[in-house]
Amino acid sequence: MPENGRRPMMAANWKMNKTVTEAERYIAALLPRAADSGGVDVAVFTPFTCLSEAARMAEDSEVLVGAQNFYFEDSGAFTGEVSAPLLLDIGVGAVIVGHSERREVFGESDETVAKKAKRAVEAKLLPVVCVGETKEERDSGGMWDKISGQTKAVMDELGGDVSGDSVVFAYEPIWAIGTGDTASPEDAQEAIGQIRGLLRETRDDSFADSVRILYGGSVKPENIAEIVAKEDVDGGLVGGASLEVESFEKLIAAADGQKDG
Ligand code: PEP
Repeated sequence: MPENGRRPMMAANWKMNKTVTEAERYIAALLPRAADSGGVDVAVFTPFTCLSEAARMAEDSEVLVGAQNFYFEDSGAFTGEVSAPLLLDIGVGAVIVGHSERREVFGESDETVAKKAKRAVEAKLLPVVCVGETKEERDSGGMWDKISGQTKAVMDELGGDVSGDSVVFAYEPIWAIGTGDTASPEDAQEAIGQIRGLLRETRDDSFADSVRILYGGSVKPENIAEIVAKEDVDGGLVGGASLEVESFEKLIAAADGQKDG
């Protein structure tokens, strides 16, 4: 465990990839590796179609299986949506909330993202809440307005009773997602340090010191060690480089090595 007391997390976001058969192969290979990753929480966010089988295989293991999205209402006339109780029913333990692809491609607003984060926490489904700026926002000096606005919307909705270990944030600069263009370790630390500072201001030391904030955006086995070595970076949310289990295992091992105190 790192000196700051926050257990690192390495999270795979498969996005819209993998059949159930492919998922079975991947999870079977990952389980022994994750059992060995003493210092790191391992999470895999699969498409809806793989969740049931992945959660069944990972039951009582070190691998947390999560969904990539859900809706904040529990049931009813919401065609195409999946709710927290439906995910919990099949053993899902976490959910990505407000991924930039949901925000940009599917028009999710800060308000919707905040409601999803709150419902996930209430349902004891660990939300990984994504925030991050576009290239234009970074270049025009609007980066912090964007990130702080997204973060504050979630914190306002969560209210005062939520503890730092019931939510995870991920700083994911949109210009770095799937582009091969990674934020430098210094840039990742600066943004994540600022987010933690905002959480300290809007909540308190205990929340800010315990909440985990991951970095996401073209993380690879070659660059992960330097990024997670930074004090405020508590792990990674990884798309492309998580699709091959061998590559994801390297990322887990690197985080374990860097953050073992
Ligand atoms: C992501 O999907 O959250 C992500 C960071 O993707 P990639 O690692 O491919 O940039």
